[in-house]
Amino acid sequence: MSTYIDQTLKDLKAKNADQPEFIQAAEEVLTTLAPVVDAHPEYQKNAILERIVEPERTIMFRVNWIDDTGAVRVNRGYRIQFNSAIGPYKGGLRFDPTVNLSVLKFLGFEQIFKNSLTTLPMGGAKGGSDFNPKVSPHTPGKRCSDGEVMRFCQSFMTELFRHIGPNTDVPAGDMNVGGREIGYLYGQYRKIVNEWNGVLTGKGLPFGGSLVRPEATGYGCIYFAENMLKTKKANFKGKVCAISGSGNVASFAAQKLVTLGAKVVTLSDRSGAIYAKSGLSLDDLKAVMELKTVKRGELSEIAKQLKGVKFFPGVNSWQIVDKVDCAFPCARQNELNGDDAAYLLKHGCKLVAEGANMPSTPDAVAAFLKAKILYAPGKAANAGGVATSGLEMSQNAEHLSWSAEEVDSKLRGIMAAIHDNAYAAAAKYGHKGNYVMGANIAGFVKVADAMVAQGVC
Ligand code: NDP
Repeated sequence: MSTYIDQTLKDLKAKNADQPEFIQAAEEVLTTLAPVVDAHPEYQKNAILERIVEPERTIMFRVNWIDDTGAVRVNRGYRIQFNSAIGPYKGGLRFDPTVNLSVLKFLGFEQIFKNSLTTLPMGGAKGGSDFNPKVSPHTPGKRCSDGEVMRFCQSFMTELFRHIGPNTDVPAGDMNVGGREIGYLYGQYRKIVNEWNGVLTGKGLPFGGSLVRPEATGYGCIYFAENMLKTKKANFKGKVCAISGSGNVASFAAQKLVTLGAKVVTLSDRSGAIYAKSGLSLDDLKAVMELKTVKRGELSEIAKQLKGVKFFPGVNSWQIVDKVDCAFPCARQNELNGDDAAYLLKHGCKLVAEGANMPSTPDAVAAFLKAKILYAPGKAANAGGVATSGLEMSQNAEHLSWSAEEVDSKLRGIMAAIHDNAYAAAAKYGHKGNYVMGANIAGFVKVADAMVAQGVC
């Protein structure tokens, strides 16, 4: 490995010793960049690596809100504006008790390369809060009410609004931030700035949202995987697919797979995993989506209602399958470890495409690469969500709404372009078929060149 990369990583680890997720993400990217860094001495001369691992701005703020009992609650809010060399900051907001600086820096860092890969002009950012909408602060076993979520979102935006704008920073959703939360956040933003400018993406259709945005990350992941299969002259017909998660990304990935003739055998959540040996139907998936987005319940509650479905408490989707062709981790970071990878490979897995961000641990990634299966890292495979957010921004700027067919066809085109760029970059540097190297290199070069051209700023 280039000594320049070595030294940058050493300094980064010393400086961010308390941020394991960020170190993991940075190490994963930097260790694949040796061929380009060696070929481009201007990157070292301009300290591109040192600069790209340091956020341009980190904002932390207090979020106080009043719960339904009248008690005052305090959470912490964040926005990491990581890199704006190629466009306004862009990246989701996550509300989860596991949110901290390390997790958001890892997500914001990944977002730089993902956004660059989309071919659209978007910089990288991420934000969120340690607020947990899934646990009521006053009634055990209950969730926060809609009113509590609304008051939290309003308070969060009362600080965030001053740091964002349609040409500055355009946040979107992420874990636990869906249509309901984006609606509350946007309402408060619009009220404060007294302007309609579409500053958030993932908005509802009546107020500037894009058709196909809710589906885009899950569908995009499957489109990417379809492109990988094409390189082997294969398709999804009859393929047995394991999916983790049952939220936005997982459910639309599952839906697309079933329509393409694949058999989706697993989904999961915090309560455990479901296994349907003969495959989930579109009706089963509809019931799961309703459970998650309307009733806001757990898979453990629904398993008995679905025919031929078994529930396994407290486990993820991987080690419960008999046979599997493809796996789609779509829940959260580090949810698929080396043992899971070994199990999947032993049971026939030939393709892994990550709907979630960094769901495979480094030993799992190493196992997939060693086995030379088709393996797509999240920054490439799940870029369809942010790409369609970019399309939402374009529609807002033009004051137009495109049809679902138009957005879906652009999404397909973007996922094919990301696939082809990553494939070509890997081949160019002697690692044909290695989508990790390809995605990192293709994403990095565009941002690095922009930073060099813009001088030391
Ligand atoms: P959701 O909140 O809609 O779904 C998350 C899913 O993961 C839920 O099923 C949730 O279970 C499960 N999950 C979360 N934490 C745990 C845990 N500790 N153990 C077991 N299961 C868990 O989020 P999204 O679908 O939007 O996001 C999923 C992943 O995709 C994240 O990594 C996100 O960063 C990434 N992503 C999302 C994009 C988007 O457009 N939404 C875009 C690109 C990437 P439960 O319901 O029980 O909480």
